[in-house]
Amino acid sequence: MFDYLIVGAGFAGSVLAERLATRSNKKVLIIDKRSHIAGNAYDHYNEEGILVHKYGPHIFHTNSKDVFDYLSQFTEWRSYEHRVLASVDGQLVPIPINLDTINKLYGLNLTSFELEDWFESVAEQVPVVRTSEDVVVSKVGRELYEKFFRNYTRKQWGMDPSELDKSVTSRVPTRTNRDNRYFTDTYQAMPLNGFTAMFEKMLAHPNIKVMLNTDYKEIIDLIPFKEMIFTGPVDEYFDYQFGKLPYRSLDFKHETLNTETFLPTAVVNYPNEHAYTRITEFKYLTGQKHTKTSVVYEYPQADGDPYYPVPRPENAELYNKYKKLADQTPNVHFVGRLATYKYYNMDQVVAQALTLYKKLTEKTEEDKTI
Ligand code: FAD
Ligand code: UDP
Repeated sequence: MFDYLIVGAGFAGSVLAERLATRSNKKVLIIDKRSHIAGNAYDHYNEEGILVHKYGPHIFHTNSKDVFDYLSQFTEWRSYEHRVLASVDGQLVPIPINLDTINKLYGLNLTSFELEDWFESVAEQVPVVRTSEDVVVSKVGRELYEKFFRNYTRKQWGMDPSELDKSVTSRVPTRTNRDNRYFTDTYQAMPLNGFTAMFEKMLAHPNIKVMLNTDYKEIIDLIPFKEMIFTGPVDEYFDYQFGKLPYRSLDFKHETLNTETFLPTAVVNYPNEHAYTRITEFKYLTGQKHTKTSVVYEYPQADGDPYYPVPRPENAELYNKYKKLADQTPNVHFVGRLATYKYYNMDQVVAQALTLYKKLTEKTEEDKTI
């Protein structure tokens, strides 16, 4: 008899497996329908020996000391600050938009102070910022919105930014200084030997059994367990009884090139050209030295593996119906990006899983005292 069946060996499932097994001495079976652990953060050495991220570029960043300290038990880190260029008007310019972006794009020589005024002069008045269009036009005006955000977003999400919650484009800030880092979090680092190696350490405990290539539906009636932790899509768990929750998918086209470097920086975004949104060159992320280089192109898709919940009011409403059901389902706990339908980064999923672990242990303590 397992204490816990954990469905999904990504961050959500693996953090809980690790905590429950090592801290609470629980017997855990963690299963995944894929052939590997680490969920969407999975990385591996390809046929040329280059470390690549199978499901697109994953860059770790967090402001949470707790999350960073927690993961540091399972990996050493390589300091890494992510930088991205966008291909706009035939030039490669920094994104997030900053002082250099504007000066380069318009052939200007503004100072930070002047840029503040410049943004103010082009910004549109938006009484209530609700959508992903509002966020951008209210800060940098319509022209920059159209150059950098409108088409990228339409490509990535299959809908106009005006149809998406403000939280989507709010992920990318606007700066008046020359800081060209994609993230400004306190902790920005990549696991020294990769994400999968970190997950292997998390799951290496005698109380944890890992079963791959298995959908939970195949074993749920065969293997006895007390409680379940579910990290797959919440609508799938409930047989889509209120209808399908939209998730956006991607096709990843991986390529290895016979050249030492291909891009001038780790990622180049293509808002207005091509069917793909961005190209990533992995060696920038991993620091690996190799005579060849591996890149991935991301082609957004409506169908396929669910990668992104789609933040907009009607989807939040539908999710809330599933959440109500989830809350009423005894002994099943829903956690992670798919099971709680949240556009979470890795660190947010780790934090959410650690919070659930705390709740589960408090519950056990309560049970003991009753
Ligand atoms: P997942 O990693 O999706 O794990 C869920 C697991 O459950 C999967 O392995 C799946 O196979 C399994 N599963 C589902 N259904 C079943 C079933 N029926 N039976 C058995 N197993 C099942 N975050 C960052 O912090 N930085 C980044 O740079 C970043 N880049 C990203 C780039 C892309 C292209 C994508 C898609 C995401 C990115 N993220 C990034 C987000 C990050 O991937 C997620 O926050 C994190 O991986 C979510 O972990 P999870 O455990 O919730 O879900
Ligand atoms: N975005 C954009 N242009 C860019 C970069 C981002 O329009 O050059 C928008 C787009 O809607 C994207 C969102 O901002 O989906 C969030 O970008 P982020 O880079 O955080 O996306 P992720 O890495 O999660 O795919």
